[in-house]
Amino acid sequence: MIINSKRKSAPRFNFERDEMIELIRQRGISDERLLKAMSLVDRRGFVQQALLNRAYDDCALPIGHSQTISQPYTVAFMTEMLAVKPGDKVLEIGTGSGYQAAILAEMGARVYTVERNMDLLNVSRKRFESLGYQIVSKCGDGTIGWKDFAPYDSIIVTAGAPETPQPLLDQLKDGGILVIPIGDMDIQNIHIIRRIKNEFETKEAHGFKFVPLIGKKGWK
Ligand code: SAM
Repeated sequence: MIINSKRKSAPRFNFERDEMIELIRQRGISDERLLKAMSLVDRRGFVQQALLNRAYDDCALPIGHSQTISQPYTVAFMTEMLAVKPGDKVLEIGTGSGYQAAILAEMGARVYTVERNMDLLNVSRKRFESLGYQIVSKCGDGTIGWKDFAPYDSIIVTAGAPETPQPLLDQLKDGGILVIPIGDMDIQNIHIIRRIKNEFETKEAHGFKFVPLIGKKGWK
């Protein structure tokens, strides 16, 4: 089922959505453009119908094929770290439900997204189309990036990797930011990597849990 974010939602859902935004704000997210985008993109349109009542819970939810839509706080944290400006060219690895890509598009970014599972990508494409987001997508192995449109102002990886794939560093602009969870299969730290010419400066945020990034430069 596709729920258009522009459509008015029932008061109960407005209340739950406002509560989700307030919780994210209380956890330290302060970028008002991001919080506005998260209140405009209706997460109910990106979850399975049986889970509609849990769409605004601050947790990851299954989307099929053993994959998940990420926890709203995690989406907010990673997006804030990207420091996206309108018009920025952003590459996302791991389209999943399409929610993260929609938030970036709502913030005015030009979004390119890669997903390895064709079924998930097809569902996301329908969502983008119905919501009017001009998001460019392809099915493939995102661990090698997407050279055709490089370099990117920022890159976000929404699955956990054993190490940072070199092609993603290579496809970042000077001054660009890569946000990627790195760790083992159970727990990861989010690495926030800024490229300064050919040097890379890394900050880390601890204790996140993602599904694995599977591919040539990820988990086998
Ligand atoms: N960003 C998504 C959202 O907003 O719903 C959440 C993504 S889910 C946590 C991780 C996704 O990464 C899964 O859909 C999985 O199939 C995908 N994935 C894993 N390895 C990948 C790879 N090498 N290239 C592209 N996608 C990959």
